[in-house]
Amino acid sequence: MRLEKILLEKFHFSSFRKGQKEIIQDLVKGKNVMAMLPTGAGKSVCYQLPGYILEGTVLIVSPLLSLMEDQVQQLKSRGEKNVIGLNSFLSYQKRKSALRSIHRYRFIYVSPEILQSDEVIHALQKIKISLFVIDEAHCISQWGHEFRTDYLKLDDVKNKLGNPPCLALTATATEMVIKDIIHQLDLSDVVKHIYSIDRPNIAINVKKVESLDEKIKGTIEFVKSLQGPGIIYFSSRMWTEKMTLILRENGINRVAFYHGGLENDDRLLIQQQFIQDQLDVICCTNAFGMGVDKANVRYIIHFHYPSQIESYLQEIGRAGRDGNPSIAILLYCNEDHDLAKSIVLHDLPNYEEWALVFTLISNPIQKPSLHELELMMYERHGISEIKWRFMKYQLEHEKVYVNGSVNLHIGVEDAKIKILNIVHERARLKQRDLAGFKRWIEDVDRCRRETLLWRFDQMLENRPECCCDYCNFDIQKYGNDGKISNTYIFTDWEEELKLILKQSGEGQNG
Ligand code: ADP
Ligand code: MG
Repeated sequence: MRLEKILLEKFHFSSFRKGQKEIIQDLVKGKNVMAMLPTGAGKSVCYQLPGYILEGTVLIVSPLLSLMEDQVQQLKSRGEKNVIGLNSFLSYQKRKSALRSIHRYRFIYVSPEILQSDEVIHALQKIKISLFVIDEAHCISQWGHEFRTDYLKLDDVKNKLGNPPCLALTATATEMVIKDIIHQLDLSDVVKHIYSIDRPNIAINVKKVESLDEKIKGTIEFVKSLQGPGIIYFSSRMWTEKMTLILRENGINRVAFYHGGLENDDRLLIQQQFIQDQLDVICCTNAFGMGVDKANVRYIIHFHYPSQIESYLQEIGRAGRDGNPSIAILLYCNEDHDLAKSIVLHDLPNYEEWALVFTLISNPIQKPSLHELELMMYERHGISEIKWRFMKYQLEHEKVYVNGSVNLHIGVEDAKIKILNIVHERARLKQRDLAGFKRWIEDVDRCRRETLLWRFDQMLENRPECCCDYCNFDIQKYGNDGKISNTYIFTDWEEELKLILKQSGEGQNG
């Protein structure tokens, strides 16, 4: 009963959701836990509640700044004062003062990057970490779809912090990824809480179209007829903007685009407008979504499909968090397969880029420091941040660089071959995953839900009334009865500013 009481007092929830109590019970006993619960299931409560029982501080590793800030704000709004997000955006002064008073915090959210700072580790070593939480733990796995190099160093961090009990959380991991997470974190005697990742209230509709033109028309039709709000995913920034224009031309005004190329302010504004129902549709890349805790998203459309089934599951999981009927629509035509293939290798440094790096390193006259190499790669060779992070990780991991300088005691040729092999293997895996997802998309002879779950080694327990395009399915159910709101609202600062300037200009003229 005690747990229910805390749940009510601290979180104002009257009962636990599936899995929460079982996980919390194990955590308060001091066990290591690996948990998989579907998106929106309420994973945060699983580590926040023990924070009020265990003695010490709960340390949470979170992959995204926005995610971290959301959680911090949410705890604060519930009256928790002793919570902080430590990340690279905290000013130097604030960080210093936070580290000085580190004892007072019940919850500390950290980015994986900041855990590489000695100063932060030293401060954390002075306090008792009651629980070490790794949120979105699939990022740890080299087989996980969001493979992030700084996540790989967390086992080391865990050791430095005296091996506190650990909770790894994910909504999307195959059995192989789960095994890898446990291995990477070196979790002994781990208790696994793996729940069905099925979201019965989301109907799945995969639809083949004959051409790009048909796909655009189909998208417009869906947006006009479906009950919003909705999210449309694209694989390129350009397309998010293009479709936003097309939709506006078709009378749908409460739509905006969102991608990583936007200024932070714009991104926040659009996210807020969507959350507050001022926008009906977001055309976005996969930069949008994580940390957007919006309960009433009614549809997800994939205009382009992602490169892995795990990403697909995570993206469609953003619909229907309130439990109400929602729909996931994937539109594809033959050309999409080539597009997906070319994108899948995009984030991996290619052979030429590695060759370049090794030529620079092998310069007998002047060997660049890691920092110099970074600048050269960014500024002279225009490499993307994702690629550089991967390169940096490999160069350090293979000890080509030690403490920021070229390691003269290592055979560079051997290291090069080793790294190229790793890259080759990752490329192979990515292509394999993409091919697997494509097979799922094209498999029209079986229940979508069943085959989706199979990929995660799960069985379908109950078939929902509205299941998928293979089973039973009535698109009318998701209609908006012809009602769409058309009140225009501003969608970005620039546009707003332009209009204000224009109006004031007109005022002067008139
Ligand atoms: P996840 O991390 O699993 O995607 P979150 O922890 O962000 O999910 O929670 C999703 C939503 O569910 C949040 O708005 C949260 O407040 C709510 N929630 C969590 N646990 C409960 C509960 N026991 N009862 C009602 N709502 C809950
Ligand atoms: Mg979460």
